[in-house]
Amino acid sequence: MQVLRTPDDLRRAGLGPASPRAGVLIPTMGALHEGHAALIRLGAAAARERRDPLGAVVTIFVNPTQFNERSDYDRYPRTEEHDLALCRDAGASTVFVPGLETVYPAGNTPATPPLPAVGTDPGLEDAHRPGHFAGVCQVVLRLFNLLNPAAAVFGEKDWQQLQVIRAMALREAPQIEILPAPTVRDADGLAMSSRNRFLGPSERAAALGIPHALGEACRASTPPEAETAMRRVLSAAGVTPEYAVVRDGETLGPVRDGRPARSLIAARIGTVRLIDNAPWTALRRITG
Ligand code: AMP
Repeated sequence: MQVLRTPDDLRRAGLGPASPRAGVLIPTMGALHEGHAALIRLGAAAARERRDPLGAVVTIFVNPTQFNERSDYDRYPRTEEHDLALCRDAGASTVFVPGLETVYPAGNTPATPPLPAVGTDPGLEDAHRPGHFAGVCQVVLRLFNLLNPAAAVFGEKDWQQLQVIRAMALREAPQIEILPAPTVRDADGLAMSSRNRFLGPSERAAALGIPHALGEACRASTPPEAETAMRRVLSAAGVTPEYAVVRDGETLGPVRDGRPARSLIAARIGTVRLIDNAPWTALRRITG
């Protein structure tokens, strides 16, 4: 596994715009856990299937432009040695760890691509974290341009981000295939997140209200019933959500008949903001 840090390193390794499009990109902010490892394994398998000469290319970059609070950026865990070992074990062939000046060169700050409607209209992450998706799209497009990958893997854990990136990539980089990866959870059901380490024991217990609420939503037969059920479970766990909704899985607008729906929750627990989601299908009551 090679570790690259600069555009020159990329060129020498045959990555980037001067080389043929190749590699399955897995963008991360580091502080890697088993969820990231699953993405890397999926990326490596996809690369093998495509006979891609570059394999799985992981990037580790804590992107300042997607944070809403400076304090969240400052305390974001940086664990490079651990991360590189995890990447190696999961089958990455390259890890790119750029400095701030490589992603955002002075005097050449990449433009923010215009956000697709799914990143501005739903009134969910777009409303609660203004500027977040603009920062995400900016860095992802910048990484696409620096690395010139054939495909890129994104986790369903960040469902709204996945929809925004799919729409953005379709417009800005249609040659790059976007591969979704399922959410990896701890044994108790909590979705793995680099921020979970900041939860104290009682906060972690409360956080379990989130996967429980998503499970309870599936026992409802309409979206409004599901939303009521989620709020009830969250409230019993002592959690006040920013939102707990059922939406169209792709547009994130209102649920439409015959289209996949998704239940989506965001909540602050102590100083930690958590998001989670699950597929939602109306429970069909068997009568007669
Ligand atoms: P992050 O480093 O948290 O920005 O995440 C990097 C990538 O890993 C994103 O595509 C996330 O959606 C994905 N990811 C983070 N946590 C999980 C998880 N628990 N399961 C699956 N994918 C995840």
